[in-house]
Amino acid sequence: MQQLIRQIQEYESRSELLEPGMDERKFLLNKMGSWANQFIDKLPDAKAYNPKTADRESLNIGENTKSIEEIINLLEEEVAETGIKPASGGHLGYIPGGGVFSAALGDFLAAVTNEYAGVSYASPGGVAIENALINWLKHIFCFPETAVGNLASGGSISNMIALTAARDKYRVKNENIRRSVIYLSVQVHHCIQKSLRIIGLEDVLIRYVPLDEEYKMNIVALEEQILSDKKEGLNPYLIIASAGTTDTGAIDPLEAIATIARENNLWFHVDAAYGGFFILTSKKDLFKGIEKADSLVVDPHKGMFLPYGIGAVLVKDARAVQHAHLYEANYMQDALLEEWSESPANVSPELSKHFRGLRMWIPLQLHGIKPFIACLEEKLLQVQYMRMRLRDLGFLTGPEPQLSVSFFWYPSGGEENEFNRKLLNNMHEDGTVFFSSTLLNGKFVIRIAILSFRTKIKTLNKALSMISNSLNRTIKEMNG
Ligand SMILES: *Cc1c(COP(=O)(O)O)cnc(C)c1O
Repeated sequence: MQQLIRQIQEYESRSELLEPGMDERKFLLNKMGSWANQFIDKLPDAKAYNPKTADRESLNIGENTKSIEEIINLLEEEVAETGIKPASGGHLGYIPGGGVFSAALGDFLAAVTNEYAGVSYASPGGVAIENALINWLKHIFCFPETAVGNLASGGSISNMIALTAARDKYRVKNENIRRSVIYLSVQVHHCIQKSLRIIGLEDVLIRYVPLDEEYKMNIVALEEQILSDKKEGLNPYLIIASAGTTDTGAIDPLEAIATIARENNLWFHVDAAYGGFFILTSKKDLFKGIEKADSLVVDPHKGMFLPYGIGAVLVKDARAVQHAHLYEANYMQDALLEEWSESPANVSPELSKHFRGLRMWIPLQLHGIKPFIACLEEKLLQVQYMRMRLRDLGFLTGPEPQLSVSFFWYPSGGEENEFNRKLLNNMHEDGTVFFSSTLLNGKFVIRIAILSFRTKIKTLNKALSMISNSLNRTIKEMNG
């Protein structure tokens, strides 16, 4: 016995480092806090992109420990200074991220308290916070109180939860799979196709509905296709619309699609991962019909400028979600089932999970929604400003953007794709501001996606002078 106690105490003293005392905690907080503060202060002048890759060797886990100073140095040099800087306002590529400071601190507290926010009885308060956020989202999108929802890690998992619910409601399984039909456009985010593979629906029939000249789903073609599929004896069951496509920010005609879905008894899913929160702005009308969706995805780590790792899904038919995600459903009593959707673990593939709601709840409590809405309005105007200034520089711009994503290209004559690709390369080499590109009907265009809360007029002016320099360089290179 004595021997056992001595051994335990021996290990106790060796594992003590895992629980630093107050002084050590203050020291670490201070070091990391000052680095975080400097990082933020340096952002306006830092490059948004550095093509340098990380020295992987230096990041490996070795025998020796490092001091907090060494660790911060590594983070600075090998992580913060390599690749894209998503926290920078100069990130205008893909869909920019956020990183609101109060949300970051929320994450810190979530990790310190480590609330078990997947299960209601384990963390009644934590789960109540997540459900309060879900209810707030239902309110914004005019979803009924009876809808269920989940705060997932992002848009991809959120879409997967919704597509799984649609699958189960329509019993798309076994021999049914090959005759079931999904309607979407080529502009849906690729996580949709990925989800379908993951949930066993690789072999469903996918109809790519043609687009109009604004890259929105052509509803006449959609309806014709559904009717002809029905005539063939197939099982049309799901329409997937986008409210803000990744490529061009287009919003599909939601109201019309909702009507077609209802008349044909199809599930109507809306992926609003990027665009959803613009419903809070002057663009509200573009989202008419979104409230008629059977399921909806929105990404607070995009449109609410929160750090990566929070998406949300809402689904009206709770039973459809239950089938795949409520494991106890088979043997639990009905009394318990009434409250089943309270616990995030019953609405998601996750059990233990990060208490991610806190990073959204704290900023909303602390700042209110108004500054978020102002910021979204700012993004809408900023893209207009960029388009005007780009046209002044001789660029052509895509159709009037619905939200804050647009695209442009230089009409160089000759090999336009090659010219614009070269131009983007030169812009990347500069790196002051980061842009990405896409192919639209085989045409190479440079995308401009404004969604960072740190993008300011000053950032855009910097972007414009970078573009202008890179353009001159490209013209010289292509001629010489
Ligand atoms: C970003 C995005 C996704 C994927 O979401 P993640 O949060 O990156 O997993 C899905 N759909 C749309 C429209 C998006 O913009």
